[in-house]
Amino acid sequence: MADTTSRLTSLKARIIELADMAGSDRKGEALALATELSTELDRLLAETPARPASDPGQHRAAPRAPRDEVERCPVCSLRSFHFQKGSIRECTDGGFEAFYRCGSCAHEGWREIT
Ligand SMILES: [Zn+2]
Repeated sequence: MADTTSRLTSLKARIIELADMAGSDRKGEALALATELSTELDRLLAETPARPASDPGQHRAAPRAPRDEVERCPVCSLRSFHFQKGSIRECTDGGFEAFYRCGSCAHEGWREIT
C-alpha cells in the first residue's frame, strides 16, 4: 500500500530525528515526538491486515531469552526481577513477551521483549 509506505517513510525520518534529539538537550521535544510516533505506529498497526501464515520467510521464531535476564523490579525497584526460563510467549501484536519473577518481593509479570 502506497499510503502505508509513505507514512512508514515519514515515521522513519522522525525516528532518526528523535535519535538526534536524544543525544542533545532536547529531552522535552524528544518525549513529545516519541509519543506522537507511538500513536502513529499504533494507528498503522491497527490498519495493517495480519499477514497470512503461509507468507514465505515471514515466520519469526521465538527468542530463547530476553536481552536482559535480570531487570529492575517495578514494585520494590531492586534489580532482582528474573526472567523465568522457557516462559517466552507470543503477544497478540506479533511480538514476544517473557515472564519475570522478583527474587526479593515475589512480584510477577510479563515483559515485552525485542
Ligand atoms: Zn520486587
